[in-house]
Amino acid sequence: MTDPAAALDDKPPVGEADVAAGLAEVRAAMQRAAQDSERDPASVHLVAVSKTVPADGILPALEAGHRLFGENYIQESVNKWPALKERFPDTELHFVGPLQSNKAREAVALFDVIHSLDRLSLAAALAKEIDRSGRTPKLLIQVNTGDETQKAGVAPDQVETLLAECRETHGLAIQGLMCIPPAEDPPSPHFALLARLSREHGLPILSMGMSADYAAAIQMGATHVRVGTAIFGRRAKRG
Ligand SMILES: *Cc1c(COP(=O)(O)O)cnc(C)c1O
Repeated sequence: MTDPAAALDDKPPVGEADVAAGLAEVRAAMQRAAQDSERDPASVHLVAVSKTVPADGILPALEAGHRLFGENYIQESVNKWPALKERFPDTELHFVGPLQSNKAREAVALFDVIHSLDRLSLAAALAKEIDRSGRTPKLLIQVNTGDETQKAGVAPDQVETLLAECRETHGLAIQGLMCIPPAEDPPSPHFALLARLSREHGLPILSMGMSADYAAAIQMGATHVRVGTAIFGRRAKRG
């Protein structure tokens, strides 16, 4: 078996990678991972994370029929996606990056799913925009499964409180959980923890797994994997 992390080091940079081939490879590996764990491959969705990829680098994925994309930065998304969505109106956009409350308006206007709700002040800002605009993106709570001080996400033992406050104080329905395991840890225990929390709280969407570990995430029950590098190529350092 090839080591997926080593294969990623060999990926050409964004702009030079063969996007359609990368997509096909990831889809095939997702299918194998689903079948290995006796899951229906149709129950696992591929969020193609196109942060830092310019519009003309995303087009090959759209032309290959892919319609589910993830972004990390609001301003970049506002610059790229309205024109692309005009050409491909059935595109579904997921916001997976850290979200500032003062960007809630743009986020609610453009995105169909927001993966990074992690505090009550952001819940309040989102609730206000949802009321005002009538748009209702699905919302996931980001969980800091490694309890890393510098990382976004709510601590695992605070999920229940935040869920209750979102529902009771703001009338927000929460659909799922998301995590980004610490880079230096084996990811599976983090995926297992997130899966357990989602079961305990009856949340159907489980967003976990990136280029290096999406197969493991699928084995642990991911419904959405977020894959960038393996599709679009290596990013310059920022993201
Ligand atoms: C960048 C990013 C991804 C994709 O990471 P790759 O390793 O390039 O697949 C997934 N999720 C989040 C939250 C990200 O910021």
